[in-house]
Amino acid sequence: MEIQSATFVKSSPDLKSCPPSDFPEFAFAGRSNVGKSSLLNLLINIKNLAKTSATPGKTRLINHYLVNQSWYLVDLPGYGYAKTGKKTRDLFWTTTEDYLLQRETLVCLFVLIDCRHEPLKSDLEYIDWAGTSQIPLALVFTKSDKLSAAALKRNTDRYRNKLLESWEELPPVFITSSAKYQGREEILTFIEEGIVRFKQV
Ligand code: GDP
Repeated sequence: MEIQSATFVKSSPDLKSCPPSDFPEFAFAGRSNVGKSSLLNLLINIKNLAKTSATPGKTRLINHYLVNQSWYLVDLPGYGYAKTGKKTRDLFWTTTEDYLLQRETLVCLFVLIDCRHEPLKSDLEYIDWAGTSQIPLALVFTKSDKLSAAALKRNTDRYRNKLLESWEELPPVFITSSAKYQGREEILTFIEEGIVRFKQV
């Protein structure tokens, strides 16, 4: 998919404040610092996107970007802060839970995972919650350039095996590096296919 246009639409504190559900949506979530802003910039190359998400307050909001006048890219707040107080966690959930469970136009939730880490409890809990809530998921391993091919395989296999303990089938998996421009075409093609499926329903 060629990206012809990408514009920031709105930051919303909750589901009811989101823009009208006029387009298929693809949402991105991950722990703080996982590389989400970098990946979103790699995908849609929108100037100021990183800056927008770095603005205090914006990281707590649901951020909609309209791409090619035909789909929404949705930047969700980060979860699992290292120093998460209960309050921060609650805020993340109250902001995103209704959105993820009730937004009818949500086609896929991409959960970002830093490929350097062991499977983290907060990531596994989040993925399990999304899976059991029947939210359509894909996993995105970020920062692949930081590992050798062997270490990358070892870490992603470890994740796959951990998930297969409770999942019958794994969601689609993407390996990305914003530094090396890896994974962009694969994700955009997957989104394009999702848009086609969305239009058929
Ligand atoms: P966010 O908090 O999830 O939005 O994460 P950022 O996109 O701001 O990235 C956090 C840090 O990781 C920054 O220092 C980035 O430069 C770095 N980073 C993000 N993606 C990559 C990547 O693919 N490769 C490398 N080497 N560093 C990355």
